[in-house]
Amino acid sequence: MGADIRTSRRSVQLGRHSIVTAVLFSFALVVAVVTLMVLTAIGRVADYSNKLDDERSWETTAGALKTFENQLDATLHDYAARDTAAQNVYEKDDRDWIISNLGEMSSDSVLFDMSLVVDDDNKPVIAYQDGKPMHDKVEDFFDPSLWALVDQARKTLVTGTPEVSGYVMTRKGIAAVGVATIREKSGHIPVPEGKRRYLIFVRHLNSTKIKMLSNTYIISGLRLVPPNHNAVYAVSIVDPLGKPLGRLVWTSREPGDMSYQQARPLVIGALGLVGMFFVVLLILGLIAGRRMRAEEAEAREGSLRDRLSGLLNREGLRRGVDRLVEAARADGGNVLLLYLDLDGFKEINDSYGHGTGDQLIRAVAAGLSVLVPPNAILARLGGDEFAVVFPTGELNDGEAVRLGEQVLDFLSEPLQIGRRVVVVGASIGIASSPEGRINREELVRRADLAMYKAKEAGRARMTCYETAMDAHREERNALELDLRNAIEAEELTLAYQPLVDATTHDITGVEALVRWNRPGHGPISPEVFIPVAETSGLIEALGLLVLRKACETARLWPDLRIAVNVSPAQFRNPAFADYVRHVLKETEIEAGRVTLEITEGYIIQNPGRTRQSIERLKALGVKVALDDFGSGFSSIGYLRQFGFDRIKIDRSLTMDVLTNSRSRDMLQATVALARSLDLPVTAEGIETEEQGIALRLFGCDELQGYFFSKPVADIEISRRLAAQIARRHNREQEAAA
Ligand code: C2E
Ligand code: CA
Ligand code: CA
Repeated sequence: MGADIRTSRRSVQLGRHSIVTAVLFSFALVVAVVTLMVLTAIGRVADYSNKLDDERSWETTAGALKTFENQLDATLHDYAARDTAAQNVYEKDDRDWIISNLGEMSSDSVLFDMSLVVDDDNKPVIAYQDGKPMHDKVEDFFDPSLWALVDQARKTLVTGTPEVSGYVMTRKGIAAVGVATIREKSGHIPVPEGKRRYLIFVRHLNSTKIKMLSNTYIISGLRLVPPNHNAVYAVSIVDPLGKPLGRLVWTSREPGDMSYQQARPLVIGALGLVGMFFVVLLILGLIAGRRMRAEEAEAREGSLRDRLSGLLNREGLRRGVDRLVEAARADGGNVLLLYLDLDGFKEINDSYGHGTGDQLIRAVAAGLSVLVPPNAILARLGGDEFAVVFPTGELNDGEAVRLGEQVLDFLSEPLQIGRRVVVVGASIGIASSPEGRINREELVRRADLAMYKAKEAGRARMTCYETAMDAHREERNALELDLRNAIEAEELTLAYQPLVDATTHDITGVEALVRWNRPGHGPISPEVFIPVAETSGLIEALGLLVLRKACETARLWPDLRIAVNVSPAQFRNPAFADYVRHVLKETEIEAGRVTLEITEGYIIQNPGRTRQSIERLKALGVKVALDDFGSGFSSIGYLRQFGFDRIKIDRSLTMDVLTNSRSRDMLQATVALARSLDLPVTAEGIETEEQGIALRLFGCDELQGYFFSKPVADIEISRRLAAQIARRHNREQEAAA
């Protein structure tokens, strides 16, 4: 609706965005952290199983290497500890046997590829490689650590089995080397120390062999690397002197990594699903939240609307005016505010019931909606008050006045409400805020004040606010206060204006007219303070005071009728008849002497109600007169149905009777019609004899006016009555004489 709502909606949206971002970010973070933790955990398990597997591979490789050496040992043992060998090597020293049985055996054996026999001086007896005599010199081909092994074999003779093995570097690479003292099967060596011979088998750890190991032991990628090669897991090969020769390394199978690779997509997928679940939850939450906010906004919007008319309510108007004034301040435009109060709505509500009243409000709202400019804000302020506010480029009230005229035109037409036709008018107050200089409170106050002025000036009017009104208002408030005090203190007095017989000019009755001598101001006209009393609610107390005083005083003049003016505001009160009955009883006056004068304005607005009220009053025995007839637009024919006892022709008509032929014709016709309906007619405002004669001739049976008497104090009436009685007495005596 208003700019403030729009901005607040925008800020809500901003807030919502940042909340959504924060929530999404938190979800993403949580999912990421959980993913990381799970992956780290799996990674740890993977690492651990990798480590376990590598350790197992290490053991397998070390075992394979040992087996490689052990196989050589076993073969060597079979060849060296043999009776035939001992015989042929030591006793026969059969070089040919040695060559064919030991040397040439190295030709295609998988178990050894070199075979040497050396004596105690480490001199080779034979040296065969792959079944052929060696080309290289033995001491050049082997690393000297070979001799350390031979020495060990030589020494172990004392302790037991004279067989040793180890890894030695040769020109062809790393080789497992076994050295065994040649002897009989029983272990006996048939020659003394110094004459012994040693059988040496060499088995090179070449790539073929390594591949074989790799295949046999299922160690993938098993290979030989230099001793300085860096590897977490490796089996080192060291010679008998402790010198590192090389390392066996393999390709880690990393089974953990494999399971990690397999598990990872599952984990990521699962956590992705969890993440998606949260996102879906979030989206559902957002949708629910948006719906809630929409409902909230609707409720808020609803709280700015009037249920009955569908227009904005007071709060809605407040916001709208604030927004427009703000805008006018910014763009130098103007804001026009019309306050509108229906005339006579209360009566329609009272006489036809709330259903009709509600329908009327809706009908007026619908009519206004059509009349106001498209950019106008239309509000109902409760009861029968409406407001229209709209921006304009012009800095005067022109557009508001034009709209006001249209509204008044529209409302002056009779409205069809259900089966009824009702007439409502409206009073309109206009205020403006050029360039937004008048703020909302002041603008509303001014429009309200102007509307009040319009009401005061008579209904169905429109008034633009003027600064003088404020001074006037203050003056009025002071007047109201003084009047209240005057009523309480019973400082109001009554004047009585005679009503005379049209033919004899005898006083037949008096009209009571209220008088107020305001302290410090002098006499104030009832035409000034009666409207104030009517709009401030003082009229009931005032009216009762007048009625009571008039009835009391009338006891002085038992032969006179007493006429009392009754304001529509009094008449409207359903308890009015009861008040009247009470006063009649209190003052012990004969009801038939009392005439209540009411004006036609109220009657037209509330025909049903009026009829009812008049019936109740007439039931008490009082008379009811239609006052000020001819100042309005109604016909006698229409007014007859209310059962008036008398009609008083308004002063404005009698005034012109001799000068204006049209007035005269109308007056004549009216009085004739009233007479034909058996309604007696009083003419008021007779200031000259001629006027009196004319109206008597037209048919008025009673006259009132300055020509006969101004309103005077009760003593004066008493004096005149006495004079009249004396006159009559004289006349009667003259007639008798
Ligand atoms: P109204 O009921 O039409 O009363 C007649 C008014 O016309 C009186 O004015 C009276 O002084 C004046 N008037 C009478 N004859 C002549 C004449 O020949 N020439 C001129 N120029 N004026 C004449 P007043 O007393 O000032 O009262 C004015 C109005 O105030 C009354 O008009 C009546 O509507 C109202 N009013 C007066 N007293 C009361 C009251 O006690 N209750 C109520 N509700 N209204 C009252
Ligand atoms: Ca009167
Ligand atoms: Ca009058």
